[in-house]
Amino acid sequence: MNKETDGKQRTYRNSRQRQAILTVIQNGHSHLSAEDIYEQVRLVYPRISLGTVYRNLDILSEQGRIHRITFADGKSRFEVADDHHHHLICLLCGSIEDLPQCPMDPEMKQYISETGFQPVKHQFEIYGYCNRCQRRDCCPLHDAKQQL
Ligand SMILES: [Zn+2]
Ligand SMILES: [Zn+2]
Ligand SMILES: [Zn+2]
Repeated sequence: MNKETDGKQRTYRNSRQRQAILTVIQNGHSHLSAEDIYEQVRLVYPRISLGTVYRNLDILSEQGRIHRITFADGKSRFEVADDHHHHLICLLCGSIEDLPQCPMDPEMKQYISETGFQPVKHQFEIYGYCNRCQRRDCCPLHDAKQQL
């Protein structure tokens, strides 16, 4: 096999793996981590590495096909980009809830255009404590049960 065909085959395999990763994100219940995606893609491509998954997630989010949600501790979750929305993220359990409202209103857009800045995308995530975690905190008994 000459070098060129080898290269082409590699590109082909890469794009199929990338498509498989995208499919997992599209079919996923919501907000998958790279590890979640890796576990599922491995069912189809048992020899894929976590590094390859990371690299493809980078490429897909650069292409704007997926949306990366970054946690306070630097961890990321992924979802398809076509549905624009924002998130409530729990700092304790890591649960994510979708927020249908977008804070980019005409006033904000006007302000940004006056600065001369050309926006490409934006993120808006609210960090805090979910209902369940708050209830857990105020009840030590419940806390103890959780640890059993
Ligand atoms: Zn929580
Ligand atoms: Zn979401
Ligand atoms: Zn928005």
